[in-house]
Amino acid sequence: MASFAEIIHKPETVRPPNLEDHRLACAAFSWAHARHALDESLEGKAGFNMATLAVDRHAHGPRAAKLALRWLGKSGARRDLVYAELAHLSSRFARVLEDLGVNAGEHVFLLCGRLPELYVSLLGALKRECVVTPLFSAFGPEPIATRLSLGHGRVLVTTTSLYRRKVQAMRARLSELQHVLLITDDDGPLPPDTLDLRSLLDAAFTPYSVPPTDAQAPALLHFTSGTTGQPKGVMHVHEAIVAHVATARMALDLQDDDVYWCTADPGWVTGTSYGILAPLALGVTMIVDEADFDAERWYTILEEQRVSVWYTAPTAVRMMMRSGTSAARAHHCPCLRFIASVGEPLNPQAVRWGLEAFGLPIHDNWWQTETGGIMIANFRSMDIKPGSMGKPLPGITAAIVERLADGSAREIQQSDTEGELALRRGWPSMFRAYMGEDERYRKCFAGDWYLTGDRARRDADGYYWFVGRIDDMIKSSGHLIGPFEVESALMEHPAVLEAGVIGKPDPLVGELVKAFVVLRPGTKASEDVRRDLLGFARKRLGAAVAPKELELVDMLPRTRSGKILRRLLRARELGLPEGDISTLEAA
Ligand code: AMP
Repeated sequence: MASFAEIIHKPETVRPPNLEDHRLACAAFSWAHARHALDESLEGKAGFNMATLAVDRHAHGPRAAKLALRWLGKSGARRDLVYAELAHLSSRFARVLEDLGVNAGEHVFLLCGRLPELYVSLLGALKRECVVTPLFSAFGPEPIATRLSLGHGRVLVTTTSLYRRKVQAMRARLSELQHVLLITDDDGPLPPDTLDLRSLLDAAFTPYSVPPTDAQAPALLHFTSGTTGQPKGVMHVHEAIVAHVATARMALDLQDDDVYWCTADPGWVTGTSYGILAPLALGVTMIVDEADFDAERWYTILEEQRVSVWYTAPTAVRMMMRSGTSAARAHHCPCLRFIASVGEPLNPQAVRWGLEAFGLPIHDNWWQTETGGIMIANFRSMDIKPGSMGKPLPGITAAIVERLADGSAREIQQSDTEGELALRRGWPSMFRAYMGEDERYRKCFAGDWYLTGDRARRDADGYYWFVGRIDDMIKSSGHLIGPFEVESALMEHPAVLEAGVIGKPDPLVGELVKAFVVLRPGTKASEDVRRDLLGFARKRLGAAVAPKELELVDMLPRTRSGKILRRLLRARELGLPEGDISTLEAA
C-alpha cells in the first residue's frame, strides 16, 4: 500500500511552492531580507505603517483596480472592493478619527460581524496610528465591557443592534469611551451619544496622509484569556507585518493570483494577521463571508468563488467531515490548491479527509496570539506527518525546554521527549507587552526563550507534536477560554456560591465548557435552577464562551491555599487518575 507521503505527492499541475526546500530556506533566511522582500523601500527604515503596506502602496500601481476584498453578505448580498477603493475608504476613516480629535496611540475597538466597514475601520485606525482591537461580535455584554475598559477604548465602532443589545446598558461603566460610531442596521433613531459612521465617512473627503509611523509603535491589541485574573491584552507593533507576510508566503504558499479565504473572524488574531494584513500586503484577492459556519454554504463558496488557498480551523473541518465526503465531492473545486488549518490539534483523520474530499491534504500549523504569526507549519513542499504541527518557520528557532526552579529554562536536546515548547525571542510579530501587566509579560521569558505554555515534543526528523497546555485553558471551537472569566460571570448570579469550570473533550469542538456550581445555602438544587444558570451565563458571556454543560455539586475540590483544583474536577469528570492530590484541602 502506498504511504501517506506518496499519496499526497500527486503530480503538480501548479507552479512551484514559495518554500521549495525547508532546510535551504532556513539557512538562507534573515528578517532583514524578509523586510526587503515585502517592500524594497523598507530597507534600513525605522518607520513604516502596516496599513500603508497592506493597501496604500497597491493603490497607485498595477494592483489599483485589482479586487482586494469580495464580501459575501449573510443574505446573498455581495460587495467588491478593489485595492484603490479600500485604500481610499480607509483613509476616510482615518480622517474621521482625526476630525473627532482622536490621536495616535489612542485605542479603537471594533465590534461587528465581518462587514466591509470592519476592514475599512481597522485599516483606517492603523493609518491614524491608533491601536486597534477587533472583538468577537458573539461576545456578551460582560466580556465586551471588560475588554473595553482594560484596553482603555476611546472609540468603538459597532452596529446599531449590537450597541443596543450589548453595550448601551454598560455605557456608564465605560468612562473612557468617548465616541461610538454606528453602522446602522435598523430603522430606529440613533441611540443617544452615538454617531452615524456612514455620514461621517461621507463628510470626510479632505485627503488624509499617513504620518511617518514608528515601526515599533503599538498597532494591534488582541485579548486572549488567562487562567486567573483578567483577560490579557496582547500588544503587537507595526513591524509585525513583516512576519505576517513572510510566514503567509512560506506556510500558506500565498501567490499573486490566488483567491484566498481565511475563515477566521478578526476577533481572533488569525482573522487579523492572515484574514486582513498578510493577504492584502501580498496583493491577493480575499473572500470575506459574513455568515456563520454552514457546510453547504462553505462548499459553495469554495466552488463559486474559485478559492485557491483556504485557511481554516479544525472544528470547521470536523463539522464538514460530519456531512461526509459525498457533500464535498458534489462540488467541483478545481482551483483549490492549498488547505491549511490552525487553532487546535488537527486530527490525523482530518488531514486524510482533505485528501478524500478535495484531493488535498490539510496542512496544520501552530501559533498563538502572543506570537502574532505562524511559527510551526507543515509546508507545501514537505511530507506531512498527520497529527504533527510540522517544523519551525525559517527565521524561527523553536525548542523543547524544561523550566528550572531558578526561573531559567534548560533545552531538552533528546528527541521524542516531552517538555514546554519555547521560541527564541526576536521575530517581528512577537508580542511586546501584556497591556498594563509588566510582571506577567516578564514571566513568559526565560533568558532568550519565550515560553509558550504548550507542552510538545520534537521527533528525530525535527517535526513538532502538540501534547497539551500546561495550564487550565480551554480551547473550544478555536476560542481560547479562561475558566476564571466564566466562573466570575456565574458567580454574579445571586444563587451561586462558587463555580469551577473545565474543558471536557468533545469530538466536534475540541473541548466544551463545563461548569460545576455550588449553590448558596437556602437555594434548592433543581432542573429549573440549572437551566436558569445556563441561560444567565449565555446572556452575560455570549454563546462562544458560556458553558454548554452545568452540574450542581455540593462542594468543589480546592487546594489548601484555596485555589479551585480544576485539574481534579477534570480527572473526576473523565474518570482519569486523580494524580497528586497532596495539596487537596480536606473535605
Ligand atoms: P490563541 O492565542 O487563542 O490563538 O491560542 C493559542 C493556543 O491554541 C496555542 O497555545 C495552542 O494551545 C493552541 N493551538 C494553536 N494552534 C494549534 C495547533 N495547530 N495544534 C495544537 N494546538 C494549537
